[in-house]
Amino acid sequence: MSVPFYFHPVCLEHRQPEGHPECPERLEEVTRYLAAHAIGAELDRREAPPAERNQLERVHTVAHVDALRRSEEAESTRFDADTAANHATYQAARHAAGAGIAAVDAVRHGAPSAFCAVRPPGHHAESDRPMGFCFFNNAAIAAEHALAVGYTRVLILDWDVHHGNGTMHHFYRRDEVLYVSLHQSPLFPGSGRMGETGAGPGSGTTVNIPLAAGRSDSEYLSLLDDVVGPIVVEWSPDLFLVSAGFDAHWDDPLGGMELSAAGFGAMAAWVHDYAEQVGLAPVVYTLEGGYHPRALAESISAVLEVCAGRRVDWESSLAPPTEYVRNIRSKLSGYLASHYPDLFSHL
Ligand SMILES: [Zn+2]
Repeated sequence: MSVPFYFHPVCLEHRQPEGHPECPERLEEVTRYLAAHAIGAELDRREAPPAERNQLERVHTVAHVDALRRSEEAESTRFDADTAANHATYQAARHAAGAGIAAVDAVRHGAPSAFCAVRPPGHHAESDRPMGFCFFNNAAIAAEHALAVGYTRVLILDWDVHHGNGTMHHFYRRDEVLYVSLHQSPLFPGSGRMGETGAGPGSGTTVNIPLAAGRSDSEYLSLLDDVVGPIVVEWSPDLFLVSAGFDAHWDDPLGGMELSAAGFGAMAAWVHDYAEQVGLAPVVYTLEGGYHPRALAESISAVLEVCAGRRVDWESSLAPPTEYVRNIRSKLSGYLASHYPDLFSHL
């Protein structure tokens, strides 16, 4: 089955100052790797269109969009200690956001899944400012588009090693989007505590799973299956959006997790199994972090194999829960029990 795969060459022109880990070489390696491996032939390569202003403004303030647009005229515009724009950043960020919008349209028209291989990433971008290598919040913009075209219950699963503060904040008080994040803690940006579970009509629609460094494939899968799975089934999303960062890979220079490329494939297989269980919900992946280019390419390929229909037996990667996982599960159930009273009595 051929997989819609979104990319735009301007994503390679956005460049941060020399030596920055979020560099064009990440996507260049992905392109090289896919060209040299069989999975590359199963992709339906599509050019990511630019997001329109009204689509960006569903998430970002006018002043934020204007500030980034003005950065086109300067050689370099610094927004925070590790987030700077060059002349191409505004266009790259528009196309990165537009990829997610086009991918939502692709699955709406029948594709079971789609992948956006774009940069800059998005999940740290707040409504009013760029942050942490991110300019426009690609996942939040895609989710808002999905809601605008008729989806009613969107799951954003964020498995980037960092917490997606921007995405969480945008939907914190909303009941149409369930935001679930597994992330390393302590680590940038410092948000994503278990006790942050949403507010107002969004009570219970934020699920943060902060984890100490060193977690393995089987620990991630075990938490997905024991904690996230029951919530997903009860919540029954009609669209799965994955904020797919690959910086929890054991080779990644920024993260301290121990996931393998095959582990990312297994997590994708878990996602697709649950998407099927809740009634064949489509799955859209949008790239976030991942700073070891080769590990990034191998991990993306493992996910794309699943999108292309390869069966991956994720259950065989499950081991009996470690003491660490049991401990996290019981702490989490304390925070989530009031929102999901029937689900966590067994933990
Ligand atoms: Zn990250």
